[in-house]
Amino acid sequence: MAVLAVRLWPDPVLSRMAGPVTDLAAARELAADMLDTMYHAQGRGLAAPQVGVSLRLFVMDATWKEGAPTPQVFMNPVIVSRSGDVATGPEGCLSIPGITISIARATAIRLRWTDLDGVMQDADLTGFQAICAQHEIDHLDGIVTLDRLSPEARALAEAEYLA
Ligand code: ZN
Repeated sequence: MAVLAVRLWPDPVLSRMAGPVTDLAAARELAADMLDTMYHAQGRGLAAPQVGVSLRLFVMDATWKEGAPTPQVFMNPVIVSRSGDVATGPEGCLSIPGITISIARATAIRLRWTDLDGVMQDADLTGFQAICAQHEIDHLDGIVTLDRLSPEARALAEAEYLA
């Protein structure tokens, strides 16, 4: 296990569409390192492109700051359905430190993914988990929070970030 370097925007790996996970053993090792990295960076979610690996894998732990750790690993995740309800809330990103951006997201999603044993899983996510999973899956599609802003708002946020 190891703490990896977190890639910072505008690193091009953050704008690339990630490819599917096919090597389970390698993915297990990567996921363990990514969880170490996420906890070390005080984050609650981290996607593989954020450590420079263009694969469809993310880790999440929605509760560790409030209580016992519940590390979760999602490989090749797919959002099967989204609630019609949308809420707008502030989102930070370990790859864009110091910047918080308000983004509208579905408040509930149904997620399908492969777990560390190679077994297909399915779950309904709500609350922070639903928001976080959508943020991390954006990373797998090469989308960062800045990409969800209007051109005017993006210019302001970029100026703040680069200042
Ligand atoms: Zn992020």
